[in-house]
Amino acid sequence: MNSSGFNFDNTYIHLPKAFYTKLSPVPVPKPKMVIFNEPLATDIGLDISGKSLDAQAALFGGNDMPKGSEPLAQAYAGHQYGRFTMLGDGRAIVWGEQITPSGQRLDIQFKGSGPTPYSRGGDGRAALGPMLREYIISEAMHALNIPTTRSLAVVTNGDQVYRETGLPGATLTRIASSHIRVGTFQYAALQKDIKIIQTLVDYTIERHYPEVKKDHNRPLSLLRAVIDKQAELITHWMRVGFIHGIMNTDNMTISGETIDYGPCAFMDIYDPGTVFSSIDHTGRYAYANQPAIAQWNLARLAETMLPLFDDETKKATDIAEEAVNGFGAVYKERSLSMLRAKLGLFGELVEDENLFTDLLDWMHRKNADYTNTFRDLTKEALPRGRPYDDKTFKEWHARWQARLAKNMEPLELSLSLMRANNPAVIPRNHKVEQVLEASTNGDLQPLKDLLAALQEPYKTRPDLNRYQSPPEPEERVHQTFCGT
Ligand code: AMP
Ligand code: MG
Repeated sequence: MNSSGFNFDNTYIHLPKAFYTKLSPVPVPKPKMVIFNEPLATDIGLDISGKSLDAQAALFGGNDMPKGSEPLAQAYAGHQYGRFTMLGDGRAIVWGEQITPSGQRLDIQFKGSGPTPYSRGGDGRAALGPMLREYIISEAMHALNIPTTRSLAVVTNGDQVYRETGLPGATLTRIASSHIRVGTFQYAALQKDIKIIQTLVDYTIERHYPEVKKDHNRPLSLLRAVIDKQAELITHWMRVGFIHGIMNTDNMTISGETIDYGPCAFMDIYDPGTVFSSIDHTGRYAYANQPAIAQWNLARLAETMLPLFDDETKKATDIAEEAVNGFGAVYKERSLSMLRAKLGLFGELVEDENLFTDLLDWMHRKNADYTNTFRDLTKEALPRGRPYDDKTFKEWHARWQARLAKNMEPLELSLSLMRANNPAVIPRNHKVEQVLEASTNGDLQPLKDLLAALQEPYKTRPDLNRYQSPPEPEERVHQTFCGT
């Protein structure tokens, strides 16, 4: 371990060479720290307080890699909007694997650290706005108790990146339990060497699912474990109204963490068809499509392991199909239990499902705000004012009260269950956009205020008011851009 607490034990580098290219970040002219995640640094065992500000910025700008790091860009492939493509880290570099004080193994990774052999003509760089967007949303997701990669630092590089216009260039340092994606498996399967995919299966099991190590059909156990983890993840997204926006197979982790925050956003008004990505013309990655897309991606994962499930092709396909079809039932069960928690229901009654769909249908018809409606229900009294002064809502509310009365548990338990599942505050898109604009113009206070507000999202706090209102019509953000 060195003086700043870096404690690397790099294993990815021992995979076959096809999986990565060793290379260093391209130095940047004048790195300057914009935001640093002190609590996260402490959690993972880092302490950079002994370094000067310049030295800290040089570290997180990629100009001074710590001892023990073995930087590499990962190779992977992926289906982007349904089309298969060769990809790889075009602007990311993994430093290595940090072993934390609690013994966890975590990737530290740069995003925006310069071109790699996988850049496909891109500049390998990132602009400040999108890197801060990833920082804000990933930290908000973590505070919402949703599995996610984390953000450790953002520095500006002292240069410009050119998109439609010149923008300040920046580098994000990201932490993840690994960067193994569905796309990594797709890449491995393409190598036409069964040993390569077998090696990746073994490595992934060792790193993420050691509990299946002794199973008879380990690739199948791995697939089932990932299916379960993804069903859990998507249920969380649906619970808080999160829309990932770009659920390509290269943006789906095997660990079950949310990864790659590009054109993502939280829904304000409840509408199952909500899409934010400016290039998702068909609504492939719309809010309500996310479970189906997750299953589609998991089918792509299953295909990569077919020869490992069984020697006989027909049997292997049957095994894969059965497992992937199982996603439907697993997701449905998790989703129902999530909705029960959002409405404070204990036990399972047949009438529950209609109670949920009727509320959601009503919200959709009334353009009700998804987050605020559920949070308003956590207040004991019947909510008043718009949109609640409405016959259909009052009838629904009476049915809900009758269902609550069938709980064996006291009302107080229902209310605390609801408060733990219905956030009081989310990073609303119009607020995020305001913060990014201020930050790009050099004013970092709005960013710090927003990050502070998002720290304890399930607590009711009067100072959160300004983050709770849905956007005024003129503030509404209809699209977010891929933000490269
Ligand atoms: P994403 O949609 O953000 O997951 O990115 C898809 C692919 O494009 C990944 O392989 C990225 O590494 C690559 N990429 C995105 N932006 C850039 C860039 N500015 N330069 C090089 N590669 C990029
Ligand atoms: Mg990606």
